[in-house]
Amino acid sequence: MSSRAEVTQMIEPVSLVKDDCPEAVSTYFGENTFSENTMQKMVSEKTYKAFKKWQEEGEVISAAKADEIAQAIKEWAIAKGATAYTHWFQPMTGLTAEKHDAFISIGNGGNVIEKFTGSKLIQGEPDASSFPSGGIRATFEARGYTAWDPSSPAFITEVESAKTLCIPTIFISYTGEALDKKLPLLRSDVAINKSAMELLKLFGHTDVKNVYSTCGPEQEYFLIDEAYYRMRSDLLLTGRTLTGAASPKGQQLEDQYFGSIKERMLNFMAEVEEEAYGLGIPVTTRHNEVAPHQYEFAPIFERSNLAADHNQLLMDIMKKVAQRHRLVCLLHEKPFAGINGSGKHLNWSLADDKGNNLLNPGETPEENLLFLTVLCSVIYAVYTHSDILRASVAFAGNEHRLGANEAPPAIVSIFLGEQLTKIVDMIESGKIVKAKKQDLMDLGVKLLPKFLRDTTDRNRTSPFAFTGQKFEFRALGSSINISTPIAVINTIVADAMQIATERIAAENKSGGEFNVAVLKVLHGLIKESRAILFEGNNYSDEWVKEAEKRGLPNIASTAESLKAFITPKAIDLFERQGVFSKVELQARYVIWQELYEKVIDIEAKTLIEMAKTQILPNAYEYQSDLANGFESISDVAGKLSLESGILEDRKELLESVSADIYYVRKNVKEIEKLLEKAESMELEEKTAFFFNELKPQMEHVRKHVDALETVMPDAQWQLPKYREMLFIA
Ligand code: ADP
Ligand code: MG
Repeated sequence: MSSRAEVTQMIEPVSLVKDDCPEAVSTYFGENTFSENTMQKMVSEKTYKAFKKWQEEGEVISAAKADEIAQAIKEWAIAKGATAYTHWFQPMTGLTAEKHDAFISIGNGGNVIEKFTGSKLIQGEPDASSFPSGGIRATFEARGYTAWDPSSPAFITEVESAKTLCIPTIFISYTGEALDKKLPLLRSDVAINKSAMELLKLFGHTDVKNVYSTCGPEQEYFLIDEAYYRMRSDLLLTGRTLTGAASPKGQQLEDQYFGSIKERMLNFMAEVEEEAYGLGIPVTTRHNEVAPHQYEFAPIFERSNLAADHNQLLMDIMKKVAQRHRLVCLLHEKPFAGINGSGKHLNWSLADDKGNNLLNPGETPEENLLFLTVLCSVIYAVYTHSDILRASVAFAGNEHRLGANEAPPAIVSIFLGEQLTKIVDMIESGKIVKAKKQDLMDLGVKLLPKFLRDTTDRNRTSPFAFTGQKFEFRALGSSINISTPIAVINTIVADAMQIATERIAAENKSGGEFNVAVLKVLHGLIKESRAILFEGNNYSDEWVKEAEKRGLPNIASTAESLKAFITPKAIDLFERQGVFSKVELQARYVIWQELYEKVIDIEAKTLIEMAKTQILPNAYEYQSDLANGFESISDVAGKLSLESGILEDRKELLESVSADIYYVRKNVKEIEKLLEKAESMELEEKTAFFFNELKPQMEHVRKHVDALETVMPDAQWQLPKYREMLFIA
C-alpha cells in the first residue's frame, strides 16, 4: 500500500473531454422523466383524464387504463435504452431503495419478449424483511408493498452499462401502514390542503381549488479526493473522521467562501447539474461554503413531494458523479471536527393552484390580513409543537451540529425580522399605534402600518426564520431525507390553521366586523405563542438561559428528543390530521432509536480498530525511536558539554508521547468495557448510555490521538491529515 506522501504526490484531477458548446439546458431538461406531456401524447385521452383524476382526486385508475399507461412507459423507457425497472422508494432509514427487475418475460412461443403490465407499474412487492418496520410487519403481515405515487413522474437512471426505469412509489404494509417516509408526506399535504381551503373559504376566497406546500432545500456537502478517503476507515465506515488534529489553517480567512470555485470541483458541479437537469431537477445555485472543500447546491422550489424526491435523487447523483471525478462527496453533518459541518436549509411555504404564495404579504389590507393569519398560524404551530420539529431532525449525525455554535441550537425559535415583529407586537398589544399617515392602511377597524417584503438583515443564527415570503427551517442535517421534516411542518401548520379558522368563525358569529374578529383571534394566538419569537443571537449563552426561562425545550440528545413523537400530544395531533397512526409513530420511534444505537456502536468499534491497528503501532515505533535516541544521548552525555536541560527536554518528549499512548489505550479499553456493559441494556437505556457515557469516552481517545498526530514525524503517521484532505484536490 502506498504511503500518505505517495498518495499526495499522485493526486490530480480526472482529465475531461472538452465540450466546446454544451447544449442549452432547455433542450434537454426533464428528458429522462416520463412527463405528463409525454404521457398525454402516448395514451388515449380517456386514459390520460383518468390518470389526472387519480393524481388530483385520488380516484384509482382501472386495470385496463393502468395497462395502457404501463405500455406507454415501457415503450418510452425501452426507446431510451432501459432494460430493467424498479419501484423506487424511501425507506425509514438510509437513502433510497430499489429492487431491479428486467422487462423481459417468456412469450407464448417460448421466445423472450419485453413486457410490463399495469399491475407491475402500480404495485410491487420487494423483499420487505430487509427493511426496518419497527414491529409493524410482525404485528400484521410479513409482506410489504410498493405502490406507484402518480404525483411524481417515472424517470430513468443511468450508469455506464445499464439504464433503469425508476417508478417513484410509496412503501406500505399489507394493512396499509406507512413503511416509508414518503406516504406521511403525501398525507400531510392532504391535511394542509384541507385546513388551508377552510381558512381561505372563511376569507371569501372561494375560487381556489387546492393548496399545497412548496419547498426548496439548500444542500451542503464536502468533496475530498478519493485516495484519502480510502485510507481512512472512519470516513469509509462512518462518513466522518473520528480523529484528526486541526489544520493550522482552517476556515479563519474565509477565503474558501469568497474565493472562486476550484476547477476540479466546478467540473464535478457541471456534471451533477447536467444529470439533474435530465431528470427535471431544477438546480440553480452552486457555490462555495464556509469550510474548506465545502460547497452548496440549491434548487428552484417545487411542490414538496417532488422536492423531496428530487433532493433524494440529487444526493444520489452527487455521490455517483463524485466517484467519476475520483472525488468523494461527503454528506455527513460533521465530517471534520473544528470546522463547519453541513446542513440543509429547508425553505418552506404554501401555494394555491394559481401559484399564489400564501406567505406573501399582499397589496391590500385584506390580503395582508390573510397573510398575517397564515403567519400567526405558523408561529402558533411552531410554539405548540417545537418538540416535534426538533425530533424531526434528530439523528446521530445532526447531533454534532445542533448547539455546536455553527448551526442553530437544539432550541427551536422563530425569527420574524424588524418590520413583522413591530406588526406582531402591535397586534399583541391590541393598541392602535399612531404612525405616519401615508404609512397607514385602513383595516376597517384598527390601523396597521403598511408593510412589504422585509428587506432587513437576515438573522443567520435562527433555526426557523421568516425570509421574505417563506420560512427557512435551518436545523436539518445535510444527509437527511426532507420528507419527515416537511410532513411535520405541514401537519402542525394544518392543525394551527384549523384552530385559527374555528376561532375566527366563532368570533365572527357574535356579529360585527370580520376584520375585528380576525385581529382578535390573531391577538390571542400571538399572546399564547409569544415565547417562541426571538430576534437575537441564537448561538449566545444568554439565549440558552433566556429560553430556559421561557420554558422552551432544549434537548441535545437525539434519543431523548425522539420521545416527542410518542407523547399523547403528538399521537393526538398526527391521528387528528391523518398523517401518522399511533402504531406508525411508535414504529418510527423504535427504528430511529435503533438507528442511533447502531451508528454510535459502529463509530465506537471503528475507533477502537483504528487505534489498535494503525494509530498505536505508528506511535509505538516513534516511542521506541525516542527511547533509543534518549538512551544513546545519555550514553555519550558524559563526553559532551551539554547545556543543562537538553537531556531533560528529550526525556520530557518521551514521557509525554508515552503518556498519550497510555491514555489512548486506557480509554480504548474503557470503550470496550462500556460496549460490553451496554450489551445487556434495553434500547432506551442503551441510547441514553451511548450519549452520556460512550460518546464522551470516544472524545477522550480522540484528544490523545490528535496530540500524537501533532508531534509524530510526518512519515510515520499513516492517516491522511485534515490539512491534506481539506486543501489538496
Ligand atoms: P435566500 O436568499 O433566502 O437564500 P433564495 O431566493 O436564494 O433566498 O432561495 C433559497 C431557496 O428558497 C431556494 O431553493 C428557493 O427556491 C427557495 N424558495 C424561494 N421561495 C420559496 C417558496 N415560496 N417556497 C419554498 N421555497 C422557496
Ligand atoms: Mg437561504
